[in-house]
Amino acid sequence: MSDSTEETTGAFDASALQQNRCPDCGGSGQLHFDSENINENFEVEKQTVITECPRCGGTGYVKAS
Ligand SMILES: [Zn+2]
Repeated sequence: MSDSTEETTGAFDASALQQNRCPDCGGSGQLHFDSENINENFEVEKQTVITECPRCGGTGYVKAS
């Protein structure tokens, strides 16, 4: 057991309450793409490419209209 003095419940950004969670990334701020690469042995390697969500700019939230 560790003795932590950090408050996890007090760190919530109140400004997020006035915003809507981004529907494109679900509030994560990131988009995941499945990508296939051919490596030097001509084997297919699956990769997950993570990009910043362009809709919310990586914040996970969009402004409420
Ligand atoms: Zn987004």
